[in-house]
Amino acid sequence: MINFTVGPVQSNDIVRKIGAEQVPYFRTEEFSNIMLDNERMMKKFADAEDNARVVFITGSGTASMEAAVCNTLTKDDKALIVNGGSFGQRFVEICELYEIPHDVIERKIGENLTEETLKQYDNKGYTAFLINVHETSTGVLYDMNLVSKFCKRNNLFLITDCISSFLADKYSMKDFGADIMITGSQKALACPPGVSIIVLSERAIERVNNNNVKCLYLNIKNALKNAERGQTPFTPAVGILLQINARLNQIADDGGVEAENEKIKTIAEDFRRKIKEENFPFEYVTESMSNAVTSLHPTTASANDIFLTLKDEYGIWICPNGGELKDKVFRVGHIGCLTVEDNDKLIQALRNMRERKIL
Ligand SMILES: *Cc1c(COP(=O)(O)O)cnc(C)c1O
Repeated sequence: MINFTVGPVQSNDIVRKIGAEQVPYFRTEEFSNIMLDNERMMKKFADAEDNARVVFITGSGTASMEAAVCNTLTKDDKALIVNGGSFGQRFVEICELYEIPHDVIERKIGENLTEETLKQYDNKGYTAFLINVHETSTGVLYDMNLVSKFCKRNNLFLITDCISSFLADKYSMKDFGADIMITGSQKALACPPGVSIIVLSERAIERVNNNNVKCLYLNIKNALKNAERGQTPFTPAVGILLQINARLNQIADDGGVEAENEKIKTIAEDFRRKIKEENFPFEYVTESMSNAVTSLHPTTASANDIFLTLKDEYGIWICPNGGELKDKVFRVGHIGCLTVEDNDKLIQALRNMRERKIL
């Protein structure tokens, strides 16, 4: 099987080997040191300010999206949410649930933000801005330079869901003035699902500490207090945290986050060049693509049929879409342990499908 989905993705041998081992007891100095090491590396790779802190939540990415919102925003806020797909919609639903006053910038499928759009929201009393840096459901990578400038001139608290863009696309909490950076274990970190990570700026920590969140498991104040000594309030996904540590150290040894960005970019560009050379009947869903994913609209066949045929007849998994995009869009991920030879196998399978006239 080759897995070109966007998570869970393929893990390397080092990560897999840890997964085969016994899970150790964790209220120990040894595990605390690993967690402090995880925090140090996450701050570095997110390019966070020195006083930033990190919490590791046992729960998939959505748990951290929810935790970020309910621990830092209140009914006194007025949030602006970018909604260009299912993950933008998730932020909207979380804000509705916690009764955070909000407005929504709706984007069409694959549509980026523009200066004209953002300008309409200047000086309108907003206090916070929520965005999925890469809206994975359609593959659009938003223009964070525009967002950053907009948030700085309006003094907005900036929450960035980088779950699928972390390690794949160039990003800096400091440069963008981001207050929250969220990622998850099963995307470009290429570990099993089950852990998500929140990096908090000093301003975010202040908001957390001044807030009286009505949530026990996702209480970030409590998590921060425990994290001072490298611990978590409850039993975390210990094994995954060890895998994350191995993976972060490996990235550090291999040249850091820039080198990892480049690695993913190389796989993505190789795939995009090859589908162009082959002249497959696919159109890009967006002009603004993340290195993490290529989102494609097939013009001669159903996207879902392509997904099913590749899975059932070729042992290759691409990422299907749901809802109204089910037959229109499929996605090819470039994150996880993949090589250009894997791309060749996918191209070969698509070539074969074209010969069989199912493309
Ligand atoms: C994967 C992903 C999530 C989180 O999904 P989970 O299934 O909860 O891990 C959130 N936002 C984006 C942009 C994602 O790609």
